Amino acid sequence: MHTTKILLAESEIPTHWYNVVADMPNPPAPYLAPNGELITPEMMGAIFPPAIIEQEMSQQRWIPIPEEVREIYRLWRPAPLFRAHRLEQMLGTPAKIYYKYEGVSPAGSHKPNSAVAQAYYNKAAGIRRLTTETGAGQWGSSIALAGSMFGLEVRVYMVKISYDQKPFRRSMMQTWGAEVIPSPSPLTASGRQILAEHPDSNGSLGIAISEAVEEAASRTDTNYALGSVLNHVLLHQTVIGLETRKQLEQVGDYPDMIFAPCGGGSNVGGMMFPFLADKAAGKNIRLVAVEPGSCPTLTRGHYAYDYGDTAGLTPLMKMYTLGHDFMPPGIHAGGLRYHGDSALVSQLYHEGLIEAVSVPQIATFEAGVMFAKAEGIIPAPESNHAIRATIDEALRCKESGEAKTLLFTLSGHGHFDMASYDKYFSGELEDFEYPKEALDAALLNLPKVSAPA
Ligand SMILES: *Cc1c(COP(=O)(O)O)cnc(C)c1O
Repeated sequence: MHTTKILLAESEIPTHWYNVVADMPNPPAPYLAPNGELITPEMMGAIFPPAIIEQEMSQQRWIPIPEEVREIYRLWRPAPLFRAHRLEQMLGTPAKIYYKYEGVSPAGSHKPNSAVAQAYYNKAAGIRRLTTETGAGQWGSSIALAGSMFGLEVRVYMVKISYDQKPFRRSMMQTWGAEVIPSPSPLTASGRQILAEHPDSNGSLGIAISEAVEEAASRTDTNYALGSVLNHVLLHQTVIGLETRKQLEQVGDYPDMIFAPCGGGSNVGGMMFPFLADKAAGKNIRLVAVEPGSCPTLTRGHYAYDYGDTAGLTPLMKMYTLGHDFMPPGIHAGGLRYHGDSALVSQLYHEGLIEAVSVPQIATFEAGVMFAKAEGIIPAPESNHAIRATIDEALRCKESGEAKTLLFTLSGHGHFDMASYDKYFSGELEDFEYPKEALDAALLNLPKVSAPA
């Protein structure tokens, strides 16, 4: 059994990010204020630097990557693409399986691809501090890393349950010099309000975002950084798909199907958008976002305008949502526990260009353990979702005898998630289908607003 590891030279780190907006069949639904008016760049200026706002609203197809950002990308990019020969053999499938490994970054996931860019643009705009939120700690550690590279102070509001359960992610952030605050906290009005109503709150991403945004909006030396969902984050992540296209060209291959785990949609967009133009041009390629059954945003959520946070401080975005007051069940893929999804991914899903499936938790760990035994790398619980869907497809190929080419993003390694693997091994993990009543209840709390004609 040989190993196929497809590498690119450093000079082939992309020089431009790809902006899918230029090639979408319809323009993206605009962001709105709660009164239904369009969000203007000035309104976003309180928490974002000008270059990021420009990217957020840009329709330009190719956006240059600053040399300072490419220089830091060189620490781990280009990321390797592997052919999973050993997994194919273990499954006995005629399908070919490729995976792009983003766990080679210092923080262990794809998230630094955007964190580094965001830190750079904030530094260039004269900002001194960044606030952000983190769930499982992957985004927090990425922005802590990026902050240390550019000499920015970083304060991370970390969802309380993860703060207690994931002490090592917290230590990583502290190693890179960030301050980590369990959320909800008494430091912000949003946090104080939640604590008054629910003193024992476990926190949620929606609450932590409210706290980070509130603080950034109240200080001129401080901006906010978001780890997924927004257009500019997906833009930065397109280095994943751009490199992968080149790597597949090197071996003369092209995917029939691409799978990626979907939380806020940044690695979905990052991997799939560079292939989307081919699909729009008639190429037969299927793009599948994979989410947990316990947080089924795309597969069971409402397509509607909603807030990105719990307190309602963010603009309204048209997206698939479980409701901004969604309290996620304590599943072990912390990075997938967000109530909403990228507006771009949501719209492309709504228009049928991207598909979505949901998978139950225990089956994702089963897939992750199979993958680790075959390929060696221990995947992040989030990545296990894409692995599950890929394995299911490879097994369908075995039934039908089809030799499809499958590709997935291995978005991160699971070295800081071994407590979750322990729970799987000891039989303590549970499957949790998000209840229909909760979905219906969420609909009632959606903000009442419609887009201007
Ligand atoms: C955050 C995270 C995800 C989910 O976030 P997206 O923005 O949907 O990509 C997936 N995998 C890993 C390893 C993560 O850290």
